[in-house]
Amino acid sequence: MRDTLVLNASFEPLSTVTLNRAVVLVLQDKAVVEQSHPDLRMRGAAVDIPVPRVIRLCRYVRVPFRRQAPWSRRGVLIRDQHRCAYCGRRASTVDHVVPRAQGGQDTWLNTVASCAEDNHRKAARTPEQAGMPLLRQPFVPSPAEAMLLAMRTDDRSALPEWLDHAAA
Ligand SMILES: [Zn+2]
Repeated sequence: MRDTLVLNASFEPLSTVTLNRAVVLVLQDKAVVEQSHPDLRMRGAAVDIPVPRVIRLCRYVRVPFRRQAPWSRRGVLIRDQHRCAYCGRRASTVDHVVPRAQGGQDTWLNTVASCAEDNHRKAARTPEQAGMPLLRQPFVPSPAEAMLLAMRTDDRSALPEWLDHAAA
């Protein structure tokens, strides 16, 4: 499991790594622990460090290429904060803006969170064909937002303050 968040020296989220990889980076003095699991420590013959949840690289890494967050239904629901794109009520399903029956793909720009009723009502039609305009346009999550998705949490309040800033 890639459970440890890696920040650049500038505090910008970069990626997630396994706990083992994170510990190696810390032991090699390539990263410092920014946030650790409360009450959990890793102890070995020559090691006694807190279990890292967030580490920060000691040297700034230039990122020439931003990888796009992989599409997922869960990711779409989180991106749209579980709000239906058609009525604004709580959404539990993902709707294809251009329906798959008309060639619509599983992409960030072609999918929105939708309540079950609207998803059913819209069926295999575009918003125009169904007379159901989108309340907001779907978007591709930024790398920082993708990081939130990668951390698999829907609850921003559970995240440290600086991460929320980074995602803004
Ligand atoms: Zn709805």
